[in-house]
Amino acid sequence: MKIADRIKYYRNMLRLSQDFVAKLIGVSRPTYTKMENGDPDFTVNHLRILGNLFKVRVEDFFKPLTVAYQNASPLQHAQFRIPQTDFRIPVKEAAAALLLSTEELLTWASDKENHSQLKDRQERATQTYAKFKTVDEAIRYTQGLIQKHLAGDAIDIVSLSMQEFGLWISWNNFGPFSGIYLEAGTEVVEGKTLPLPIVAINSGHPSERQRFSVAHELGHHLFGQRGKIGSPTKPIADVDEKEANKFAAGLLMEHSRVVKVLKEMQEFYSKTFDFPSIVLLTASHLQVSYSALSRKLVALGMVPSDQIKPVLTAKVRELELGVSKRQRPQPFHMQLVKSSEETLRKTAFFKYDEKNGPRGPEDIRFLQDYSYVEYLHSCKAKPPHDSSLIFREVALYVKDTYPIYVAET
Ligand SMILES: [Zn+2]
Repeated sequence: MKIADRIKYYRNMLRLSQDFVAKLIGVSRPTYTKMENGDPDFTVNHLRILGNLFKVRVEDFFKPLTVAYQNASPLQHAQFRIPQTDFRIPVKEAAAALLLSTEELLTWASDKENHSQLKDRQERATQTYAKFKTVDEAIRYTQGLIQKHLAGDAIDIVSLSMQEFGLWISWNNFGPFSGIYLEAGTEVVEGKTLPLPIVAINSGHPSERQRFSVAHELGHHLFGQRGKIGSPTKPIADVDEKEANKFAAGLLMEHSRVVKVLKEMQEFYSKTFDFPSIVLLTASHLQVSYSALSRKLVALGMVPSDQIKPVLTAKVRELELGVSKRQRPQPFHMQLVKSSEETLRKTAFFKYDEKNGPRGPEDIRFLQDYSYVEYLHSCKAKPPHDSSLIFREVALYVKDTYPIYVAET
């Protein structure tokens, strides 16, 4: 890893814009972008300023990044304050990322402007923490709240969790972990407790997986399962984890919605596509992963018996290729992306910089998600679309509109 890569890594971890750092070291933004790509080099003087900004020593820029970062991370101490059973993050990078999420929340909560929102979210979080004993009970309650968080047939799980349950959702790189839940009141930084429950989501995972993780962690909150750190990639023996997974699946793939969408897809596509491809299109419409939906459909008895094996053993990549080959590319409406952005700008988590557009990689994620959600909404009555195609188009749009992101999209 080059020095420039390390600097970029630190900058991203602190969610600083290139513009901000460029100003700080006294170069133009285009020059800074080039410097992060390795040419021209950062000078020793630059490194002194940046070392101060990132709280690392100049010589640390020349060492493997993880060592420097771990040494600088106060989270090592935090691990001793939280009971080991609750806080089992053996991966140092993940632990450091969780500390950044915590700091982000503490900074937000200490801002007077956010005071009334904080109070409101605290109330919601307290009222719903450990509210339910059974998964069915929790799903019934949550289904009653989803109406205003529906986009087409997909639930906007992020807005649901934040607005109805007061969760603080933070994206970062959590190594092998897909999601983490820490209850409100947990002491992570010395002398400071979490004012809201944290749900930390791995931004490196596919969008559908992230959505499932948010729902899973929401489940931990509703069942009062403290400090849960999950990794759904492996089969799970922990009863709490199974419960949270059952809740997430039941919420994102609620029976009547699944039946409705699958039926629509079959009516529309049964002459064009085989059954596994129709399952893929349904998954894309509900914004859940193929593997989650296929297991759910089999469990619900909605897969014809001669199709169970093909559905469960299908290779998703091949299905995607088959579907996209036979679907004509959809013209993408830039106007729609722009109007989504307008809506997005009004939301609390969209930190918009008048000159440079959205700041931080997590905002790009929102732009993509929201554009996609809006897009789905606008074509509710029309055939579904290949989500990867749409994401690509939105990413290109973002890239062209905000050159600051060239290196990051
Ligand atoms: Zn879990």
